[in-house]
Amino acid sequence: MSARADAPPLHPSTDLAIPFNKPYMTGDELGYIAEAHGNGHLSGDGPFTKFCHNWLEANTGCAKALLTHSCTAALEMSALLLDLVPGDEVIMPSFTFVSTANAFALRGAVPVFVDIRPDTLNIDESLIEPAITSRTKAICVVHYAGVACEMDAIMAIARRHSLKVVEDAAQAVFSSYKGRPLGAIGDFGCLSFHETKNIISGEGGALLVRDAELSARAEIIREKGTNRSRFLRGQVDKYTWVDVGSSYLPSELIAAFLKAQMEHGEAITRRRLAIWDRYHAWAEAHERAGRLRRPIVPLDCSHNAHMYYLLLADLDARTRFIDAMRAAGIGTVFHYIPLHSAPQGIACARTSGSMEVTDRVSSQLVRLPLWLGLEERLEEVLAAADSALASLD
Ligand SMILES: *Cc1c(COP(=O)(O)O)cnc(C)c1O
Repeated sequence: MSARADAPPLHPSTDLAIPFNKPYMTGDELGYIAEAHGNGHLSGDGPFTKFCHNWLEANTGCAKALLTHSCTAALEMSALLLDLVPGDEVIMPSFTFVSTANAFALRGAVPVFVDIRPDTLNIDESLIEPAITSRTKAICVVHYAGVACEMDAIMAIARRHSLKVVEDAAQAVFSSYKGRPLGAIGDFGCLSFHETKNIISGEGGALLVRDAELSARAEIIREKGTNRSRFLRGQVDKYTWVDVGSSYLPSELIAAFLKAQMEHGEAITRRRLAIWDRYHAWAEAHERAGRLRRPIVPLDCSHNAHMYYLLLADLDARTRFIDAMRAAGIGTVFHYIPLHSAPQGIACARTSGSMEVTDRVSSQLVRLPLWLGLEERLEEVLAAADSALASLD
């Protein structure tokens, strides 16, 4: 993987004693890949892909789940399903990964950025309605750190203005809002199985389609604009080009890897939550001393421990913290460069209202390592972080 534009590279940090990220393998991946190899079905939509689709549908309640190459691909599929034309607008946060905006910009649509809430760092739902114009077609929310946006308010706004809702749930597998799994509340949900996420297949993702009416078209768009899926089920006697589309389906080898991860998904989440809880308990004293702010999880959200972050006083404090941790052999990273201030964001998007919280948070936020296996070395991380924070006083 080449470095993400908005974060220090992940892989070079593996020369650190305690890297920021380390992909977790359950031990069952290679057996399933061998099985896929033995099946002789290597292209997409074989038995392993079907397992993953069923697992996602059972775990989220969406009408249709479709594996994709990435969350980026799932977001692009949503943009195609929305039939966006150049000049249409999609409201979204600026504090997010580039794919959230790119997927819509690729269709000529204009990302319209609104500020985030200071507590969850999710889109501020009270700023959505003022950003709506006659060109607005959709709202794309991002469940930052696997903590849900205020979905009841957002869905009500969408209904009032006949807008579609896309959930960028890249970070939110196994998270829920008032008991409802994230990714299956809006019209479309986009998951990521990138190796930095909770359950992984290297690169990977899924599109969740909430309503059955849209699933047939989603299948067609994913299969190069053909009705090949219906043909393979024997529902039509030949397949042909019926819509726009592209190749969005991953190979069975990827799905085989992912099956192993899904089967261990609950255990993975439990272990991540234990690490998250330890960080949270540790950071409390520092919060009381005024050195940082801890993540805030609203009571009606259950989260998946996707990340643990700290908000430090300012950019200078954050830079010094990251440097001190690196000197102690520990990888920590920051993100995001707000999209509204990135060159492509300036070129193809616009903002609605002040971006004050986004700008402030993006200079304060630092992510601590969180991966399975870190348990044994967590106290070392906390001790190093204690010293790094003390040096800021
Ligand atoms: C990781 C991430 C993506 C991109 O996921 P890929 O699977 O790498 O395409 C998109 N949006 C958010 C919020 C992410 O965290």
